[in-house]
Amino acid sequence: MATLTLENVKKSFGKTDVIHGVSIDVEDGEFIVIVGPSGCGKSTLLRMVAGLETVTAGEIQIGGRRVNDVEPMDRDIAMVFQNYALYPHMSVFDNMAYGLKIAKTPRPEIEQRVAEAAKLLQLEPYLQRKPRELSGGQRQRVAMGRAIVRKPAVFLFDEPLSNLDAKLRVQMRLEIKALQRALGVTALYVTHDQVEAMTMADRMIVMNGGVADQIGAPLEVYSNPATEFVAGFIGSPP
Ligand code: ADP
Ligand code: MG
Repeated sequence: MATLTLENVKKSFGKTDVIHGVSIDVEDGEFIVIVGPSGCGKSTLLRMVAGLETVTAGEIQIGGRRVNDVEPMDRDIAMVFQNYALYPHMSVFDNMAYGLKIAKTPRPEIEQRVAEAAKLLQLEPYLQRKPRELSGGQRQRVAMGRAIVRKPAVFLFDEPLSNLDAKLRVQMRLEIKALQRALGVTALYVTHDQVEAMTMADRMIVMNGGVADQIGAPLEVYSNPATEFVAGFIGSPP
């Protein structure tokens, strides 16, 4: 069974059509990258899956359940944003535990989940630090920790690496992939960077003005682009 299904999903803001009907069945444990230039609708598509935007038409299913009208907190997802604002006055531990506290998770379980996530993310030595006492890469890991502790079926990422320098970005790509494999979760990952998409994706959705021009494995898209747009976009330097 597909973990995540989009069925002819559309979005309009007022009279402006922004997503023109995107369909995909995402298999359990797949890493899907939504890639395309600025303004093509990547974030809007992701935010509909997250429940942060309403769906104008079509259907989204997570774990076989229609979620169009389900609140973000009640979807089996967690999201890592581009501007992964951490709470500056809280420790790393409390940043990671916050969502679980809100959800009234018992304290021993909170401690266990944060400990597990901190181990995976190599954040164990930093749990009592404040965000300002961390490097950019460590802060990014705390943001991922906040998502991991919720144990979602689907991880959503919106350009999570765009605030990092080039070298760290390359390292974090590998870390995110390794983490996703270790956890066995399904990932939907937005980037405008073709190289990032090519290196991270099991399959990629190439968006062009609200239309999914092509959905396929990186090599397939690269060697057999479906449209001139795809050929130009994938073939051009980032
Ligand atoms: P991307 O993430 O690919 O850069 P977005 O999904 O943010 O693109 O935006 C797609 C289009 O939708 C853009 O033209 C943007 O201006 C428009 N848009 C996004 N959010 C809103 C909104 N809340 N109201 C009106 N238009 C929006
Ligand atoms: Mg965006």
